[in-house]
Amino acid sequence: MLQLVNTGRQSIHSYSEIVGKEAINDLKRLAKPLHNLRVLNINATPYGGGVSELLRSVVPLENDLGLKVEWRIIAGDEQFFKVTKEIHDALQGGHNYLNRQHDRETYLNYNFINSHEIDPDNYDIIIVHDPQPAALLDCCRSRGKAKWIWRCHIDTSQPNMEVWEYIRNFVAIYDKAIFTMAKFVPPDFSQPEVAIIPPAIDPLSPKNMALSHKMARNLLSWLGIFPHEIFITQVSRFDKWKDPMGVIKAYRLVKKEMPDIHLALVGSMALDDPSSWATYSKLTVEDRVDPNFHLFTNLTGVSNVEVNAFQRLSKIIVQKSIREGFGLVVSEALWKETPVVAGNAGGIPMQLKGGGGFLIDTIEECADKILRLMKNEDEAHALGVAGKKYIRENFLITRLIKDELELFKSLL
Ligand code: UDP
Repeated sequence: MLQLVNTGRQSIHSYSEIVGKEAINDLKRLAKPLHNLRVLNINATPYGGGVSELLRSVVPLENDLGLKVEWRIIAGDEQFFKVTKEIHDALQGGHNYLNRQHDRETYLNYNFINSHEIDPDNYDIIIVHDPQPAALLDCCRSRGKAKWIWRCHIDTSQPNMEVWEYIRNFVAIYDKAIFTMAKFVPPDFSQPEVAIIPPAIDPLSPKNMALSHKMARNLLSWLGIFPHEIFITQVSRFDKWKDPMGVIKAYRLVKKEMPDIHLALVGSMALDDPSSWATYSKLTVEDRVDPNFHLFTNLTGVSNVEVNAFQRLSKIIVQKSIREGFGLVVSEALWKETPVVAGNAGGIPMQLKGGGGFLIDTIEECADKILRLMKNEDEAHALGVAGKKYIRENFLITRLIKDELELFKSLL
């Protein structure tokens, strides 16, 4: 069997204080005919990145609603994850660096090995997340009685066509494909049928739960960020599409006018992202020369609660993405009423529709908007408040669960 990820237990009732009793009753009504529905989620990593963030909340909450939901991860070696990262990058519009024969063999071999660890007859629905395990269904001895869903979390609106055509063959045999936005559906996508479901954040998870300023300050001073320091933060994997180098350049421009400003880059090393190490080493050079620049990772003790503190106490959260799937970090920051300056990419604009901050395309614009918000505290505060309201109405986990349950119902 594929390795199971233990997600503990959560109670859906705890959310009624935030979204109202009626919304919870709706979920219970929807879930009733789905009682004991066996759902398997498969992805490539149990931590680091948005997919694991989502599953950590969705799985226990759907279980609490009476479904039988599991989350399992595929196994692979470094070479496999190097290949799947290349596929990920190419599907987001990067170059095709894959070696046609050798890399495709690696991809298929691991999908084949992993597929033999699944018995599709044990499930009613199997959700395969992102391209890493996309070939599992093709490799499985049988599709069994389960309905198979491919859930794409990345921006595949302008994919490298050679790589997309390769992956498309595996995706075409699924019963359904889910994308975050309609515009992410690749140009020639004819099958399977598509559903559009944007992700969401969990307001009660350690990353987003209420945290007093005192506690947040304590957490950060353990990391060397002190209460009097004025800082901005970007929280994201060390991935070229998140443009950490661009953030540093924008920060340097801001620093010319505000020499006391600090920048924190908080990044995580996901299992399926071997290239993050190279980016990390580049950043450590910067870390050594500038005392106002701080680099943190999940490997040095910065976990969910610390990320919560960063997002809460930063003057601004920056997310200078060039390409983005959804960008959960934007909703996470807004939930804490922290304004955001973020790349005009992927799912980010959809989260800033209600206010919340500014969209930028260049390093200079990024620096300008940071300075503007630094100098206008009232505007920054108003944007944060409006942003939170919009996230409450559109991007909380209960809405995501509702969308998923409706989809399951339509499939059965
Ligand atoms: N994250 C984290 N620690 C880090 C970096 C990222 O916990 O050091 C989390 C972040 O808070 C968010 C998720 O990883 O919940 C990233 O999701 P997003 O959709 O922003 O980007 P992805 O990594 O999926 O491209």
